[in-house]
Amino acid sequence: MKCPVCKDVTLLMSEKKGIEIDYCPECRGIWLDRGELEKLMEKEETRIEEVEKKVDKERKEEKPRKRESFLSEIFEIFGD
Ligand SMILES: [Zn+2]
Repeated sequence: MKCPVCKDVTLLMSEKKGIEIDYCPECRGIWLDRGELEKLMEKEETRIEEVEKKVDKERKEEKPRKRESFLSEIFEIFGD
């Protein structure tokens, strides 16, 4: 699949946690198949709930920790 923006650049595919992500190495555009975004958001919601539970527990233990985002993990693969 070619990048709809760059035209002559072939998208690279990355698979993260069962979700396929096509991304453009040129403009860093991210292209998801229909349904992949929904899956991603579902997973993100689940992850947020898990993190909130964890944070609650940690708060009680007085060990605050930085919240991590599932999306930020995904975007790490495009990191500088
Ligand atoms: Zn592109």
